[in-house]
Amino acid sequence: MSYSETTRSDYQRDLNALKTAGLFKQERLIHAPQGADIEVEFPFGSSLKKAINMCANNYLGLSSHPEVIKAAHEGLETRGYGMSSVRFICGTQDIHKKLEEKVTEFLGTEDTILFPSCMDANAGVFEAILDERDIMISDRLVHASIIDGIRLCKAQHDTFKHSNMEHLEEKLQLHADKRRKVVITDGVFSMDGDTAKMGEIVALGEKYGAMVFTDESHSSGFIGKTGRGVHEKCGVMGKVDIITTTFGKALGGASGGCVSGRREIVELCRQKARPYLFSNAMAPVIVAGVLRVLEILTKTTERRDKLERNAEYWRKGLTEAGFVLKEGDTPIIPVMLFNAKLSQDISRDLFQEGIYAVGFFFPVVPQGQARIRTQISAAHEINHLDRALDAFKKVGKKYNILGKSKQEIIEMYGS
Ligand SMILES: *Cc1c(COP(=O)(O)O)cnc(C)c1O
Repeated sequence: MSYSETTRSDYQRDLNALKTAGLFKQERLIHAPQGADIEVEFPFGSSLKKAINMCANNYLGLSSHPEVIKAAHEGLETRGYGMSSVRFICGTQDIHKKLEEKVTEFLGTEDTILFPSCMDANAGVFEAILDERDIMISDRLVHASIIDGIRLCKAQHDTFKHSNMEHLEEKLQLHADKRRKVVITDGVFSMDGDTAKMGEIVALGEKYGAMVFTDESHSSGFIGKTGRGVHEKCGVMGKVDIITTTFGKALGGASGGCVSGRREIVELCRQKARPYLFSNAMAPVIVAGVLRVLEILTKTTERRDKLERNAEYWRKGLTEAGFVLKEGDTPIIPVMLFNAKLSQDISRDLFQEGIYAVGFFFPVVPQGQARIRTQISAAHEINHLDRALDAFKKVGKKYNILGKSKQEIIEMYGS
């Protein structure tokens, strides 16, 4: 017997250690399509509770949009259910190529290649275009999937302090002798909701001959005047060399991702990126859905405009109520609580009030920076936000944190 009792009890001990440390993640079951109003079973086996969802990546409210569902049905009818192949064998349909063209147009790049997910795009892209002679210089808060991509690549690696341009410039000078240099950042940082200084990063890239890579998973579809992303917002469309993004967030919320950017880089990914070569092609249903999403977003900015208004309203409401927030101007609005247990207690009490908002703590965020990350959607109406604000105020009052500073909250609860 290879799965011995010793191995089993070792694993059980590891799992128990997570529980003791309060780090065990318990999932909530949603019995409804994704949206602003959901029905949730939590804990497992309890009766369903109606809740307002305040923590989905459903930024544009397209996850269950009737037009997108209709397009997915049409995709199913006309191109079938599964591809049963990777792209280069027999997994490429006309609609895959069409989606690549439409994404290229939308992001304002030269070319695009689809991946099964953005995690896969990030895991594959660096190894395909860099080797030992090159250097990757990444922001210290980049997404876990980028860190994995960096690990899989033989190029050298260094980091710069989060969004610190002086430090980035020092690192670019330090690595002047390397063949190729790539500066790596997220467009919008998912845990804090702040935006990369893309204009300055591109300028430094030009000054020191470094390529620029950005992961736009938390911005594609809604950041910038027409929702193209941080490169649009910062006025550097066409100047970012590599963009990765997901179709699993604002762009319909199903799954899939891509690398978009310089033509040769995209072609090298097609030839060499392992998650592209060795994992199944995106399902036709999803390809058809994303195509409709891009059509909707190209026709009108109504949804990103509504999202922007909603996010401003929510941020203002929480600020006036006296919560400590992270600075920013995106729909990711973290309510800072600093203490891990406090974040869990408040999340639980909010759920009792019909508000679904999950608390994050170490190691998802740095030690002493526990929070409830709220995420606003164009699917929210003002009455959702008002009801959620009432609940936040009620619970905030119970824990006596309204109008209290970071220091005062830490004095009461520790960090
Ligand atoms: C969500 C996310 C990903 C992963 O996207 P998937 O398509 O779900 O794999 C990658 N990068 C960032 C920054 C993300 O937020």
